[in-house]
Amino acid sequence: MSLLSANPSYFDDNFRKQIKPTALGFLRQLSGLSIFDIKGKDTSRTRVVTTLIHGNEPSGFIASHLWLLSDSQPETNIRLIICNPEAAKNKPIFSHRYIANSEDLNRYFSASISDSSEVAIRASQIMQAINEVKPEAIVDLHNTSGSSPAFAVAVNECEKTLALASLFTNKIILTGLSVGALMEQSFNAPIITLECGGASEIYSHQVATDGLYNYFTRANLFLGEEHNILVHRHPIRVELVADASVGFSHNRLPTTDITLRADVEQLNKDITPAGEFLGWYDVKQGLPLQAIDEQGNEQIHQLIETKNGCFFTRQTMQLFMVTTILEIATRDCLFYATVKYLNKR
Ligand SMILES: [Zn+2]
Repeated sequence: MSLLSANPSYFDDNFRKQIKPTALGFLRQLSGLSIFDIKGKDTSRTRVVTTLIHGNEPSGFIASHLWLLSDSQPETNIRLIICNPEAAKNKPIFSHRYIANSEDLNRYFSASISDSSEVAIRASQIMQAINEVKPEAIVDLHNTSGSSPAFAVAVNECEKTLALASLFTNKIILTGLSVGALMEQSFNAPIITLECGGASEIYSHQVATDGLYNYFTRANLFLGEEHNILVHRHPIRVELVADASVGFSHNRLPTTDITLRADVEQLNKDITPAGEFLGWYDVKQGLPLQAIDEQGNEQIHQLIETKNGCFFTRQTMQLFMVTTILEIATRDCLFYATVKYLNKR
């Protein structure tokens, strides 16, 4: 049975009169890949927003709904792409990252054109919808699974990318890790992923709403105000080894290979000093973690030190995307860490 609707639906400004007043009502109006074209004051340029690649990350959707509901006209044309309403509508609503039995859409943007799986086709339809309008910028709105402040992620370090990110946040990770995400693809325009903060935090929706306002109403995205943004480089992906299992608790769990401290999501907030306690493991088994850098090298012993069945940060670092959601921690990764960052004006 097909889980994803086959064809994209296109909407123009007329849809704004029919839009339901709540985000949930709006979601129920959508059946598949949904593309909204909003006419700007300057119709010679187009900016793109993508959101809901992950069905459990609602901030970008909520902010987009608010904008569509308003009478506001953006500075340039806007193409808004709601990427995966099916996953979001799957009950319980806004709680599924992917369609049941399906794969992570945001790992399929580098898929080969011969891949005819539903999820690969959806990824190529999204890229086509972006390319059709030759955008001057692209912003892909997400949430983190765990509690977190907002930050941007990008591949290219250029002034335009940093200026774009600074419309939304004051922190950016420049990554060379390739996972097949949308923001790794080349569209001849600056592109960022914006992690608006935790999916269940009201403040994250405000970050998306304020950021979209900036993005839609600036005549020039790349000139003007000085941006002040903290740049993190070379993230390292920390994940479980093979089929190891993880749990989160206030004490060592006898049922999992390692236990991370229950409040580990707190470490998303700020720089973590060397020597910070992270969790417990079984000394007889060894630490079942690996840390892969951008070159594919194993770095776990640069990041983590062990002592008496406990493990700690070995050096000062910023952790990102720490989550206590077992499925993501197990199937994706435990977190990312950076040890290099500097303030860029
Ligand atoms: Zn996401």
